[in-house]
Amino acid sequence: MDFKRYFRDYPTPDGFFGPYGGIEISDDLARACREIDQAYRTICQSSKFISELRRIRKEFQGRPTPVYHCNRLSEKLGNCHIYLKREDLNHSGAHKLNHCMGEALLASYMGKKKLIAETGAGQHGVALATAAAYFGLKCEIHMGEVDIVKQAPNVARMKVLGAEVIPVSHGLKTLKEAVDSAFEAYAKQYKEAIYCIGTVAGPHPFPMMVRDFQYCIGEESREQFLEMTGHLPDAVCACVGGGSNAAGSFAAYLADSVDLIGVEPLGHGPAFGGHAASLTYGEPGSMHGFHSYMLKDKDGGPAPVYSIASGLDYPAVGPEHAFWKDINRVQYVTIDDKEAVDAFFKLSRYEGIIPALESAHAVAYAMKWAKDHPFGSILATCSGRGDKDLDYVIENYGFGEDHQF
Ligand SMILES: *Cc1c(COP(=O)(O)O)cnc(C)c1O
Repeated sequence: MDFKRYFRDYPTPDGFFGPYGGIEISDDLARACREIDQAYRTICQSSKFISELRRIRKEFQGRPTPVYHCNRLSEKLGNCHIYLKREDLNHSGAHKLNHCMGEALLASYMGKKKLIAETGAGQHGVALATAAAYFGLKCEIHMGEVDIVKQAPNVARMKVLGAEVIPVSHGLKTLKEAVDSAFEAYAKQYKEAIYCIGTVAGPHPFPMMVRDFQYCIGEESREQFLEMTGHLPDAVCACVGGGSNAAGSFAAYLADSVDLIGVEPLGHGPAFGGHAASLTYGEPGSMHGFHSYMLKDKDGGPAPVYSIASGLDYPAVGPEHAFWKDINRVQYVTIDDKEAVDAFFKLSRYEGIIPALESAHAVAYAMKWAKDHPFGSILATCSGRGDKDLDYVIENYGFGEDHQF
């Protein structure tokens, strides 16, 4: 495949990456998606939009985030070099703000007054509430009642930021019901509101838009890495939940001879219900308005999924990753809970960086890779900071005395 032409060819005008993607939702919502698609394709090329987004990234988000060489960790592992792209230093502590600011800027260009979304663990809700506060937009976050209790600090953050948190009280009262509820609310208000998805999933144009807004991760890291070392890394890796930080990390390297590796959560192990490795153990199918790889139960519905990192436990994956897997441009591997926790402690202890448990999956893989590639260099995306995970980790694993070299 000629990757120089890639962004002209993918997605196709109706939102396909090979057989994956598309718009598989009710006519009303499909019309709203097409309206967003058209607006985005026009607005994103205007120099006013581009320069405003650039200014926001620099002045509000603190971009570019640094690339950092993990000196001590690398030494412990041999002669390899592990580098991190520090999305944990992005304002609000993770990469999610990259696409939330982009989506909110688009909303204000389109004259919308309100942002609507669902959230599971609350990270997307907090990032979107942050963006809404910046632009002076209303923000409505749908969240399952079970998650509201479990994620009280994020609920408090959203409210302080001025968002309205709508409790969803039917079904299992978690993410899936919250998605349905947010879609329903959006269908009623699409004239004045815009739906903002939290990853590179959902119907077209969301997988494309979110990838484009996350592209800054790889675009920056490629230039920074070249400047630091005079060459490109041998490999780039990132964790994959829905796949947004990975898509942004990889897209800038598609045309380079750099190995790209997506790291999926293996949770307790490969048994049904114990993990969320959709590309590794799933099969093609449709849910949430798009076609991709997914983990299904015996009736063909979304399978129960699990990971210690709540940002990774999604039964599907963005359609572009399904495509990258099929054409063999990106390799997808797995890391289980134990390996992620080990990396969480080691990066903290040896580098002074406490990563999110999601990001610890990418770091764990980089450590494995480094052992097998003496003198090699790997750049792992540290998608977020681990403050949110500290209480849970300490309660279940102590302070990491067992996780030293
Ligand atoms: C949400 C989240 C993820 C997973 O989302 P992707 O769309 O796969 O990037 C990863 N890391 C952190 C810190 C998150 O908050």
